[in-house]
Amino acid sequence: MKKIVAYASLIACTLVVPAKSFADGEVNLYSARKEKLIKPLLDTFTKESGIKVNLVTAKAGPLLKRLQTEGVNSPADLFITTDAGRLHKANEAGVLQSVKSEALNTAIPAEYRDPAGVWYGLSLRARPIFYVKSKVKPEELSSYEDLADEKWKNRICIRGSSNIYNQSLVASMIANNGAEKTQAWANKFVKNLARKPKGGDRDQIKAAAAGECDIAIANTYYYGAMIHGKDEKQKKAADAVAIFWPNQADRGTHVNISGIAMTKASKNKANAQKLMEFLVTKESQNWYAQVNHEYPVVAAGEWSDTLKGWGEFKADSLNLSKLGELNKDASQLMDRAKWK
Ligand code: FE
Repeated sequence: MKKIVAYASLIACTLVVPAKSFADGEVNLYSARKEKLIKPLLDTFTKESGIKVNLVTAKAGPLLKRLQTEGVNSPADLFITTDAGRLHKANEAGVLQSVKSEALNTAIPAEYRDPAGVWYGLSLRARPIFYVKSKVKPEELSSYEDLADEKWKNRICIRGSSNIYNQSLVASMIANNGAEKTQAWANKFVKNLARKPKGGDRDQIKAAAAGECDIAIANTYYYGAMIHGKDEKQKKAADAVAIFWPNQADRGTHVNISGIAMTKASKNKANAQKLMEFLVTKESQNWYAQVNHEYPVVAAGEWSDTLKGWGEFKADSLNLSKLGELNKDASQLMDRAKWK
C-alpha cells in the first residue's frame, strides 16, 4: 500500500512539475583543471546556493573536441581552461557565448577578460625568467628582448613552440613590439637555446638546476608546486634557481590567466552565471589562487606567503584577448625562427 501511495505521488509530481525544473538546481561544468583545484570551491557554492555542480574534468584539447562534437546537445554550461589563447580558440570553434555581468566586470580588471564578455579570467600566472643563483647575477638580466643577446648563447632552456604558453608569450611580444622586431628577436633567441626544446615548464627548471642551462622560462605556479611538493629532487632544483621579473623598466612581465566561459549550448544559464560570479568573490579568489600558487585575478584578492616571498612585480597590462588574436601569427613566427 505504502509503495502504491509513493508511486502515485511521484506521478503527481512528474505531472505538475515541468521537466525543465529538474535542471533548475544544477549546472554542468567542463574543467580542464584538476579536480582538486576546483572541487572544494564548487562544494561551497552548492552549500550556499543549493545549486548542484556536475563536474567533468579532462585535458583542454579533448574537452574542446567534446564540446564541438556534442554541439547544441552538449550538457555543458561552463568551460574552464588555462591560457587566454585556448579560450580564444574555443570561441573560434563556436562553442561559447558571451555573458553580460556587472559583478564580473566590476571584479575582474578589463585586461583579464574578453572585451565582448566571452571569457573571464579566474586566476593569474606569470611567465618570468628563472636564473641559476650560482651562475647568473640578477643584474645581468633585464627583459625577454635581451635574451636574444649573444651573451646568452647556449644558456637558455625553454619548452617547445607547440606549447600555448610560449605562443602567448610571443603573441604578447608581437602586440608590444610588432611582428618584424619579434621575428628578428626569435631568430636570435632560438640560437641561444642550450638544447632542443623538450618537456614541460618544470623540466626547464630541472635542466637549469642540473647544469644544462643557466636560465629557464616557466610559469610561476610550477615553481610554487616544485617548492611545496613531495618530490625532493624537484625541491632541490627549485632551490637552485630564483625568479627574475623581466621588463620592469617598460611594459612589465608577461602574464596569463586561467578562465571561464559559458558554452553556447548552456541550458542552465542563470545558474551558470551565478557560479561564474561566485568564483570571483574574494573568498573564492583567495582559495582558488592559493591552492595552485597562482595570483588572484581580483584586486581585493590576497597573495599567499609563497607569492609574497617572490616579491611584487609590474605585469604587462596588455588585454589578454590579444594573445588569442595573435596566436596564429605567433606560431608561424616561431616556425620561421625554427623554434622546435
Ligand atoms: Fe600549466
